Amino acid sequence: MDDRQFRTAMGKFATGVTVITTELDGDIHGMTANAFMSVSLDPKLVVISIGERAKILNKIKESKIFTVNILAKDQQELSMIFAGQIKEPREVVFDRLDGKPVLEGACAQVACEVSVVHVEGDHTLFIGKVTDIHLEEKEPLVFFNGKYRALAKV
Ligand code: FAD
Repeated sequence: MDDRQFRTAMGKFATGVTVITTELDGDIHGMTANAFMSVSLDPKLVVISIGERAKILNKIKESKIFTVNILAKDQQELSMIFAGQIKEPREVVFDRLDGKPVLEGACAQVACEVSVVHVEGDHTLFIGKVTDIHLEEKEPLVFFNGKYRALAKV
């Protein structure tokens, strides 16, 4: 089994697309991520998985806060900005939820405090205790087989 085969297999799992944000010393940093999962209802916990080379990694470790913004289908450009797929710098305006930076127009904004940090292989898992949520009735952006998609009725 090589890396490409592993990546291809994992790409068969259709997911939503999120932008994780954090703020350290007044600077907001965002990163596109689909490694996001709900963990527990009581207490309310979620998990994100961040690669060891991502610049946001140490920022979340230091700030001990992050938000998960579940992108809507009209927000592919934001996903591309925060994945470094659009190279030129863009001005992005952030809202606030529980004092933490969030993206306006997302299907869901989830504000978290880091509860547990767990290094596994070349990624770090952050368990986040959810401190607030904001919802909008919108269709999600979807990622499957390395491409952006939208939901279709079956
Ligand atoms: P950078 O490369 O510095 O930032 C990423 C981009 O965001 C840069 O272009 C930067 O200009 C822009 N940016 C950051 N903050 C701001 C701001 N305040 N205003 C405007 N622009 C800003 N990686 C993972 O580790 N885990 C995952 O679960 C994951 N899932 C992914 C899912 C998808 C669909 C895609 C496309 C990528 C995913 N990645 C994931 C890869 C990850 O998004 C990229 O490797 C990313 O570029 C790494 O970000 P970084 O923290 O190193 O920051």
